[in-house]
Amino acid sequence: MTQSLKGRSVVVTGGSKGIGKGIARVFAQAGAKVAILSRHADQAEAAAREIGHGAFGLSGDVTSLASMEKAMQDVSARNGGLDVLCANAGIFPPARLEEMTSEQWDEVNDTNLKGTFHSVKAAIPYLKRSDQGRIVLTSSITGPVTGFPGWTHYGATKAGQLGFMRTACIELAKYAITVNAVLPGNIVTEGLAGMGEEYQRSMAASVPLKRLGHVDDIGHAALYFASKEAAYVTGQTIIVDGGQILPESLEALAQA
Ligand code: NAP
Repeated sequence: MTQSLKGRSVVVTGGSKGIGKGIARVFAQAGAKVAILSRHADQAEAAAREIGHGAFGLSGDVTSLASMEKAMQDVSARNGGLDVLCANAGIFPPARLEEMTSEQWDEVNDTNLKGTFHSVKAAIPYLKRSDQGRIVLTSSITGPVTGFPGWTHYGATKAGQLGFMRTACIELAKYAITVNAVLPGNIVTEGLAGMGEEYQRSMAASVPLKRLGHVDDIGHAALYFASKEAAYVTGQTIIVDGGQILPESLEALAQA
């Protein structure tokens, strides 16, 4: 594992559970000083206690630029700067296109895409002062690569994050800040576990590696993008899905 995150200041938005908590744990175990942000300070603090290694929780709402500016200022003051932003907070309430309201569209967009913009914009002044400024976005296979009924709004935001990234990385290159994205497949989180064992079994059966992803699988990919070793990698994506998007058909999977 890279040693280059030791002592680095990292903030993970949406770090109180699921994938964000996995990212926070992997970074903390790599020696980083990790700030876990979510709207509920108590849950962020509970996740930080569970992770240990000096991680701490704070409240912040990615839908508000002012909230993110305050959060980045707090993290920077507490950690003596900011080196890595993991912009991970996201929501995925399903709604079919024919029934979807404008408010439902806005809610998902405000958190996932506008929230990415707010998080990145608020972090830039601090990342500019780092010699290892890194931004790692959590996108998804849903949107950039695949589709799933009920998620037109979600898929649009996850694809939108990549469009955002491809220009942000050019604008921020003059500060040696890199911007990359991890695209998870189906990852075991609290939310997925709540959908029952049968659902998880059938999802796992559609993955060539025959298992769902662990949150740590995403954490390790994010860690690579944040490392010193990835200094020359920017504007790139990595799919972490156990090969899920690859079979051309059910038949291709069955014949394997
Ligand atoms: P999750 O378990 O529901 O966790 C979402 C996290 O985001 C929580 O910490 C939540 O905390 C926080 N959050 C939500 N709205 C927020 C806001 N407005 N401001 C700040 N924090 C907010 O979700 P997850 O499954 O881990 O998903 C995390 C990311 O991975 C998302 O971007 C999602 O699109 C992506 N992803 C997930 C999967 C999967 O299989 N799970 C697959 C592909 C991509 P609070 O409620 O306390 O704010």
